[in-house]
Amino acid sequence: MIALYARQSVERENSVSIETQLQYCRAALRPPEHAQPTETYIDEGCSGGNINRPAFQKLMRDIENGRVRKVVVYKLDRISRSLVDFVGILQTFKAHSVEFISSQEAFDTSSVYGDLILKILIVFAEFERTSIIGRVRDAYDKRTDLGIYMGGRRQYGFHLEDTLVGGLKTKKYAPNPEELAHIRFLFEQYACENTTLRSVQTALLAQNMRPLDGADWTTAKLSALLRNPVYVRADSAVYDYFAQKHVRIVGDLPSFDGQHAVLLYGRTTHDDTLPDWSDMKLVPAQHEGVIPSDLWLACQRRLARNRQVGSSLSNQTSWLAGKLVCTQCGHALTTIKSRRADGTVRRYFQCIGRSHKKTCPGISCTLYADDLEDLISDCMLQKLGQLGTAPPPKTDTQASARNELTLRIRAVEQRQSKLSQSLLDGEWNASLLRLANEQAFELEREREALAHKLSALTQPESTAAGLNLADCWRAASFAQKKAAAAVLLRCVLLSPDGAPELVWTL
Ligand SMILES: [Zn+2]
Repeated sequence: MIALYARQSVERENSVSIETQLQYCRAALRPPEHAQPTETYIDEGCSGGNINRPAFQKLMRDIENGRVRKVVVYKLDRISRSLVDFVGILQTFKAHSVEFISSQEAFDTSSVYGDLILKILIVFAEFERTSIIGRVRDAYDKRTDLGIYMGGRRQYGFHLEDTLVGGLKTKKYAPNPEELAHIRFLFEQYACENTTLRSVQTALLAQNMRPLDGADWTTAKLSALLRNPVYVRADSAVYDYFAQKHVRIVGDLPSFDGQHAVLLYGRTTHDDTLPDWSDMKLVPAQHEGVIPSDLWLACQRRLARNRQVGSSLSNQTSWLAGKLVCTQCGHALTTIKSRRADGTVRRYFQCIGRSHKKTCPGISCTLYADDLEDLISDCMLQKLGQLGTAPPPKTDTQASARNELTLRIRAVEQRQSKLSQSLLDGEWNASLLRLANEQAFELEREREALAHKLSALTQPESTAAGLNLADCWRAASFAQKKAAAAVLLRCVLLSPDGAPELVWTL
């Protein structure tokens, strides 16, 4: 039987419905399979954060009973959002020779097991961030749909005023004219030909326009201001701009009236170079914008162009980039290239606190990138080995099956010891002795068979998987290593003498 599994955590207007998920699953079947019996397993209102889902538990029971030949899902995250659970589930599939297919991430289980895990690591890298945002989104969806101020920082150019929306007490943005004058200047300058964030920064200071909140104009801050639609008079062109990026837009076209601004929720401020637009939500705001739509959009185009130029050179030199943190200043470490007397180039790491800001003494030794990569590569290998041999998640049926087998083994052992006791105690003639020998032999065979079954339940070919995973890591490309590190490593803390401390996500 082929099992189609679908899961939806909560009803959301833009989330993929159960019906659509099942359609994708059916489309992923090979033509000869269309005639084969299928069964659907549906969990509605269940999170992928754990495996306590009724339909999923039934699926695992059916797999253990040998009823399932193949499992099809719409996306990997339907099965689990936890990497540990996922690896365990895959091992159970493997132990029962169940094929596994996901319609959106192209792979099938005929590839080497370890290779599969690596692919999954990469997929997890992609949805790791979105799952965090997703959890928050579930809780806040209702309030943000109403355009209600969600707390967080005050936006430059506005102060907060009490207001009532739909009977709920909340805040709305009210203009701060002096600060908004800075904002207007910023957008008008940046839209001009040949400007960069740095030249706008200089221009602002030349006009004696210093931030009124006491902060500094940094290029990062200017870029964040330029990108924020809290300033735009949103109209249909702004609607189209976000719609093309697949941002979820709440509210109808008429609310993009060319007067009111919009609020963008779900922005990840830490990683502005790679905004994940599909995870964001755009809501019409209660306040009016100040920047005309065409000026705002011109600045977005310029930002996108300037970013392309910048990112081609940035941070592509180590798969550890972005994971290294200096314990003295808390800043990230960047890769620096140094040319030595003999002409060779070596990469080393230094914290931004030293290299850019000159506020940190920095790492005292020269931390060569090759050395640190080798060291952490070894740690990754070990970690992947552990993952590969992680026991499958214990389901109730598995536990009771194990218990039953253990009891039967104990029963056989009792009969064995009774038999040997009576052999020692009793008076035996030759034929009785032969019978007793045969019985002893049978009992031993039965015990071995039961013990074999028990060990099959306990450890499904895990050591082989561990080895494959390690091989995969050795053969992995730069992008694969970076993706795997993105999932497994939260960060690497570096002490003043350059000693690394790894912080794992699992
Ligand atoms: Zn530092």
